[in-house]
Parts: sequence; structure tokens; C-alpha cells
Amino acid sequence: MARLSLVCEAPLKSIKAFNSIWRGFRNATLNTVQSDEKLITDDTIVTAKEAREDDLLVVHTRRYLSKLKWSFVVSTITEIPPLFLLPNFLVQRRVLKPLRTQTGGTIMAGKLAIERGWAINVGGGFHHCSGDKGGGFCAYADITLAIKFLFERVEGVSKATIIDLDAHQGNGHARDFIDDKRVYIMDMYNRHIYPGDTFAKRAIKRKIELDWGTEDKEYLEKVETHVKGALNEVTPDVIIYNAGTDILDGDPLGGLSISPQGIIKRDEIVFSISRSRSIPILMVTSGGYQKRTARIIADSILNLHNLGLISNSLSNKSRI
Ligand SMILES: [Zn+2]
Repeated sequence: MARLSLVCEAPLKSIKAFNSIWRGFRNATLNTVQSDEKLITDDTIVTAKEAREDDLLVVHTRRYLSKLKWSFVVSTITEIPPLFLLPNFLVQRRVLKPLRTQTGGTIMAGKLAIERGWAINVGGGFHHCSGDKGGGFCAYADITLAIKFLFERVEGVSKATIIDLDAHQGNGHARDFIDDKRVYIMDMYNRHIYPGDTFAKRAIKRKIELDWGTEDKEYLEKVETHVKGALNEVTPDVIIYNAGTDILDGDPLGGLSISPQGIIKRDEIVFSISRSRSIPILMVTSGGYQKRTARIIADSILNLHNLGLISNSLSNKSRI
């Protein structure tokens, strides 16, 4: 029986946005059940578990976690000002718990990727958060956590490559791994937007800075060239692919002009190169702020599935 590794849970930017993504994703997967030999079923979707405090302490400082007990701090990190007015128990329940569950999902998906060759967390990708500082919607450093868990707990994993294709620079994981030679970071982002973190840029081994309104042709050529280039420089034991969809044309924050087909092709290029080199890949969905995003993520997963890039047949390398 095919065992897939899609990990899902909880809100992204808001309950509404998440529900939209989840519904789009579920509908798409249900359609697939009917048309694709039942390779995707509800049974093969893994439910994420909330990251516990001792999990978070693998990366986060106690000082940082304590600060999240202040609604004001959480409202600043998540950029949702009204949270400031909510009692912290509600902020914990409505905002931080779902984010911790997505974080647990990324950690879990890291292990599944090694076990099965690939995993997709429909959520996560909080790439602006580092061990002692949150920001840009991101309260927990799930990418750093997933990598550290793999390094510490899974035999044979000692090198990781982060391919960050969200529209924004991924400064959180970059700060966490700035002096860590085990982690190679490729980051392609709009050079003119948040966060413009020059200190964190020192951690990026392959930096591709884009201009306003970059379109499919240029974008996809750069993705292919630089993903291949990055993997030619270092062959990692695992790839963490931060697949933000805020590169989509019309996104209010990303400032790029990539079509829905361009996003689907981008994911295909990354998976195709990774799988052809037998490198386990963990994808997280990261930023994306439009209603259309849910459908595009679902279509992209279906495309990967239809091309055999996320099927059991390619994922026989088990090292757990
Ligand atoms: Zn982003």
C-alpha cells in the first residue's frame, strides 16, 4: 500500500485562510482518490502533533518562550494588532497552539522525508523566526527545529540544504545557522521587501535577489539553474524546501509576478531535481496571502503526484 506523507494542521495566517487552504487541499485530494488508483486517501494523511515546550527548547531560549506569554509581543510578531487586546490564554489557544502544531508538523515531516523520501507539511515554513526572535508572522522556528531534530536524532543525517523560494528573505533560519557548516542555504527573494536583513544574508551560500515584477520565464530559469548549482556544490542528506506562494502575481506583499502555472512548475522543478538525485525532501508551504493560493497548492501537489514525483515507488530509502 502506498504510504504518503502529507502532514496537515491548523491556521496559517488566520483560521479563515487556513480553512480555505485545507478545503481546497481536501477537495483536490478527494478528486485524486477517484482518479488515481486511490493513492491518496484520508488514511495516508498524517495529523501533526503540537510541539511541546521541551521540543521548542531544542532551538528557542527560555527567555524567548516566556516573552510569548505577553499578548503584546505575540501581536507584534504575528503582525495582528488586535491580539494585543486579548488575554494571553486566548492568544495561546487561538494563535500559538495552532502555530505550535504546524511546527510539530514540520518536525514530523522531517522524519517522514528521511523515511519515505519526501514529505509535505501543509503549513509551517516560519522562516523569519530564529531561536531568540520572532517576526513577520513567524513565532516558532520550525525549519531550524526540523533540521536540528534530524541532526540529533536520525542516524546518517549530518548535512542539510535549505531551498527558500518564498518571496521574502528567510532570515530566521539563516541567523540560526550562520556559523553552521552543516547547513547550506539557497535563498531567492524580492530584494526590495521585508526583512532586508543584511546580517542574515551572510549565512546564504547562494543568494538570488529578484526585482519587482519578476515573471515566470526568468524566475523558472533561475530556479532550475540555482537548485542544480546548489546541489552540485553540496550533496545534502535532506532538502528543506520553503515553498512560499507569495510569489504569485498580485500578492499584496511579495511584489513578484509569477503565474499559478509558474508556481506549479517551480515545485515540479525542485522535486524533480531532488528526487532524481535521491535526496529526501521536506516541503513546507510558508507565505501566501491570496484566496487562490489554496487551489494552487492543491494543484501543485496533484501535479507532483501525477508525475510520480511523490509516490511510494521512489521512496524506498529508509534510514530510520
Ligand atoms: Zn513570504
